[in-house]
Amino acid sequence: MAPAIPSRLLYIGGQWRAPDLGGQIAVINPATEDTIGYIPAATADDVDLAVKAAREAFTKDNGKYWARTTGKYRAKFLRAIAAEVTARKSQLAELEAMDCGKPLDEAAWDMDDVAGCFDYYAGLAEGLDAKGHLSVELPMDTFKTNVLKEPIGVVGLITPWNYPLLMATWKVAPALAAGCTAILKPSELASVTCLELASIAAKVGLPAGVLNVVTGLGKDAGAPLSKHPGVDKVAFTGSTATGKSIMGAAAEIIKPVTLELGGKSAIIVFDDVDIEKAVEWTMFGVFWTNGQICSATSRLLLQENIASVFLERLAEWTKTIKISNPLEPGCRLGPVVSDGQYKKVMKYISTAQEEGATLLCGGKRPEHLSKGYFVEPTVFANVRPSSQIWKEEVFGPVLAVRTFRTEEEAIKLANDSEYGLAGAVISTDEDRCQRVAELLQAGIIWINCAQPTFTQAPWGGTKRSGFGRELGEWGLENYLSVKQVTKYI
Ligand code: NAD
Repeated sequence: MAPAIPSRLLYIGGQWRAPDLGGQIAVINPATEDTIGYIPAATADDVDLAVKAAREAFTKDNGKYWARTTGKYRAKFLRAIAAEVTARKSQLAELEAMDCGKPLDEAAWDMDDVAGCFDYYAGLAEGLDAKGHLSVELPMDTFKTNVLKEPIGVVGLITPWNYPLLMATWKVAPALAAGCTAILKPSELASVTCLELASIAAKVGLPAGVLNVVTGLGKDAGAPLSKHPGVDKVAFTGSTATGKSIMGAAAEIIKPVTLELGGKSAIIVFDDVDIEKAVEWTMFGVFWTNGQICSATSRLLLQENIASVFLERLAEWTKTIKISNPLEPGCRLGPVVSDGQYKKVMKYISTAQEEGATLLCGGKRPEHLSKGYFVEPTVFANVRPSSQIWKEEVFGPVLAVRTFRTEEEAIKLANDSEYGLAGAVISTDEDRCQRVAELLQAGIIWINCAQPTFTQAPWGGTKRSGFGRELGEWGLENYLSVKQVTKYI
């Protein structure tokens, strides 16, 4: 039986607190359209309390408290969180699947990644103890300069709904490892597992105020957090439109931000490939997590002479994808996250048809599912570069296809986007893959694959996909500030 949604309050200063105005937001299961629980709706006063709690934990008694602990001490808590996530993996995965519509297997893999990420940053936190003081070589010996890496301070972490707990973890784990204290504001469309993270923090005895979780609407809780003068940095993952407004708010008080935003990534398939393998990666690149991945390779560039056989195979394969309630065994495609997202995806599909693209498969709700926000895997061919479906992020299971003749043309078409998050190239010619990888304008490039993501490797985009890098050592640097100390000898 599916678990009940735990009833939780805001988690502030190590206490569960009702929101100041008592508001609630319904948790709607996107597979059934049923209300399955409620999350608290924070407003500016709650955010203010959370910022105060985080500040107190950072600088308790005017001595930097969490910030002054050793990495080894902090690592102990991060490892305990990882162990507890692993112990609760199946429950957390079910809650995630019911909250955002992600197939249960995928949600379970996310939980492994969450635990792995906390463990990984525990290791980097320990490493900081050794690397805390770096000496700089100077051109004269009358001075000596050391560089200290210090936690930035109180950080506001604002996250989206597509990987609710994993996207939060990509921020919480390095922030806490660095010695920052944090206020996490997850998406109002999928906050359940982030509130469970708060319960895990409480269970492992994480000191009060080090991690605070405030759920609520973007305008009521996210905006006050991004504008708050007591927040030293904002790390945001979400849409480019919201990123713009967060960056605007931060500019007012010169607050640093990192922005992980949207994408419209291309996958280029050359004519020397094994068609079966290339079709498989193409499908994975765009339909994984119901197409709701920032790095979805949602523009397919196909070399002209293999286009018809490739597309025929692709259309056949989409029919084998099991679309069902995410909790059903073998589900490969669940619903999109909400009614609003369903309408948005359907509008993109109808506009693509009006703009003259050829619908190869999908394009509607699956006939066997009368409830839930389900969309069939959809492929459009003959898509014009000026059309909406080619230029804009759909964030649903929709692939737009164009053909090309030459390598040069493929690169030009791939780079003709305001986004620059990811890109993929599939070919058996290794030199060509390397050349294309270097010329694609994006922060993440995959060769002969799509979407593998490793906690150790940097993640982030260029152009309107944002700036800054998460994961790996780069993720830790996001939460460290560099100070030089120079001494006259
Ligand atoms: P969104 O921008 O609507 O919301 C993201 C978060 O911002 C939510 O917590 C929301 O409540 C909050 N928010 C909304 N308005 C705000 C405001 N004015 N001030 C402060 N916070 C505000 O994005 P979404 O729909 O939740 O997520 C989908 C988007 O996220 C897609 O564009 C996707 O590409 C992007 N994304 C990017 C990455 C990446 O790594 N680059 C990863 C996952 C998702």
